[in-house]
Amino acid sequence: MTPILNADLHCHSIVSDGTLSPEALAARAKANGVELWALTDHDEIGGQQRAAAAARALGLPYLSGVEISVTFIGRTIHIVGLGFDPEHPALQRGLIQTRGGREQRAQEMSESLAKVGIAGAFKGALKFADNPALIARTHFARFLVESGVCRDTHEVFRKYLTEGKPGFVAHHWASLKDAVSWITQAGGVAVIAHPARYKFSINEEFALFSEFKNHGGQGVEVVTGSHSAAEYLTYADTAREFGLAASRGSDFHSPEESHTELGTLPHLPGRLTPVWELLTDRIQHPSKQCQTASAAMDH
Ligand code: AMP
Ligand code: MN
Ligand code: MN
Ligand code: MN
Repeated sequence: MTPILNADLHCHSIVSDGTLSPEALAARAKANGVELWALTDHDEIGGQQRAAAAARALGLPYLSGVEISVTFIGRTIHIVGLGFDPEHPALQRGLIQTRGGREQRAQEMSESLAKVGIAGAFKGALKFADNPALIARTHFARFLVESGVCRDTHEVFRKYLTEGKPGFVAHHWASLKDAVSWITQAGGVAVIAHPARYKFSINEEFALFSEFKNHGGQGVEVVTGSHSAAEYLTYADTAREFGLAASRGSDFHSPEESHTELGTLPHLPGRLTPVWELLTDRIQHPSKQCQTASAAMDH
């Protein structure tokens, strides 16, 4: 497959902190001309069957996806998994464990906000969480907008919920080694999500990429809604330097909140291996499944 493919391999549904259903996202991806799609909810694969079924019905090729929260050198980073078997027990157990601490963390976030005079944040955030097991900072951000504390979620993340600000609670997520291993054991490819977001020093970033490679990681997001045009080129170089495949994804969460619409990013820069080339036999092609189904009926 070609690098010139409208692949969108990073977005979120109501199963984590997006505002659209997996079906509505599939329809939106299709309408925007996406040619290969993956739903990558945070620490959750509960939406995978629905996403794959909706994609199949629309004739949209699909890859299974997830975005795993990881603690690396004391900081939170995200590892995207693509093309894995969602039924794999090691992956399922790992994700249950990773999301397990979210409710307690949310209670502590609420207590921290109460200290600056914002009451009822836990209940308020929970109202926005379709999946209570996946209560995220985004749901708190929506509550803070609804209650008039901030104008929009971007203002929330400037003033609250981030390190040093009210509502921030440090949390210990999965290790890099475990996250990569759960994905690869399940037959998928692990991808470093939006590396520019971490604001790592050169040495920290080198450590991340080297350790990720050593653990069996194979990809990095180059073109993402979280990167500037200059950062596409920086991380295209990093991908070549470390021999990693390149991924592309909007990180779309919501029509109201997201800057980047599904399927609207520029194509990957040249001289890169697109991550979908590593995953050709993991792509769920609607037509092939139809052929298999009709072939089965012939016999
Ligand atoms: P959590 O996994 O609960 O820590 O929530 C992380 C989510 O919060 C991210 O996936 C984003 O959806 C959102 N988020 C974090 N930082 C920002 C930010 N600076 N601006 C907008 N959304 C953010
Ligand atoms: Mn999110
Ligand atoms: Mn992320
Ligand atoms: Mn994301």
